[in-house]
Amino acid sequence: MDGARAASRLACTHPAPAAIDVTLDADNRVRQSGKKGRDMNPFDLKDRVAIVTGGNGGIGLGMARGLASAGARVVVAGRNATKSAAAAAEIGGVAIEVDVGDEASCRNLVAQTAARLGRVDILINNAGINVRKQPQEYTLAEWNEVLNTNLTGAFVCAQAAYPEMKKAGGGKIVNIGSMMSIFGASFTTPYAASKGGIVQMTRALATAWAADNIQVNAVLPGWIDTELTQGARRQVAGLHERVLARTPAARWGGPADFGGIAVFLCSGASDFVTGTAIPVDGGYSVQG
Ligand code: NDP
Repeated sequence: MDGARAASRLACTHPAPAAIDVTLDADNRVRQSGKKGRDMNPFDLKDRVAIVTGGNGGIGLGMARGLASAGARVVVAGRNATKSAAAAAEIGGVAIEVDVGDEASCRNLVAQTAARLGRVDILINNAGINVRKQPQEYTLAEWNEVLNTNLTGAFVCAQAAYPEMKKAGGGKIVNIGSMMSIFGASFTTPYAASKGGIVQMTRALATAWAADNIQVNAVLPGWIDTELTQGARRQVAGLHERVLARTPAARWGGPADFGGIAVFLCSGASDFVTGTAIPVDGGYSVQG
């Protein structure tokens, strides 16, 4: 592509950046002035409205806390209204009930958010379940439940959020994958299929919606101490020790390990980052 065409393509696909006065000082160092608060702090989420599915516990709550501490107004979305109300109260957010396995419920979540908070800038597709069995033992109902919750629900929420983000001039979508987006395991076939799908869906949405200034990325948690993995530790003998032995950081992760990555991927700090799948795993996925 020649220079003129490249410039006109950029002009077509990206909204004009906020006005920044750039001058050079006596040593030819760039000095910027006249910047607004968000330009000064690229992690600032003030006035941004964020939906976190499964934000009432575990990794989702860790991310919701991070977004709230950066100034976002956070919708904590889950099935369990009591848990969601408690989490929302803790972070000064709003609780909205959703079953991500149900299309109408996903669309209602986004519509309610837009109606009550005025806009939707950020969507974290975090709600997820697992059913642990050998592949030959799954019923089709179990397979469908895992795929509907982990993958189809994320797609429907993203699709519902798209027009709101477009209207707002851009947005951020973060999908939660897993080490099972990369590796296989004998006891987790539908879960691995859903989490592999999350990464490919992330790439496809990132490609499609970049022109709308919507960045779509995935986070791949390692082994994190939550209700989900407490079940796994009860079911899979020796899992706890194997995770410790294989993780270079020599510990399980916790919900607090996800606040920073959420703020990064949902803020202006990551405006040129899209379609990625970032492990947050204490080095688990790079251990030889
Ligand atoms: P938890 O079991 O602690 O939390 C799961 C969350 O998902 C809950 O808030 C739950 O809310 C919500 N949820 C489940 N089903 C639905 C549904 N149908 N509709 C709405 N909300 C739902 O798990 P984690 O925090 O560990 O997991 C969060 C995400 O991280 C999942 O996608 C999981 O696959 C992924 N992950 C976790 C890892 C780990 O080691 N913990 C590792 C890799 C990935 P409610 O109770 O209200 O239904």
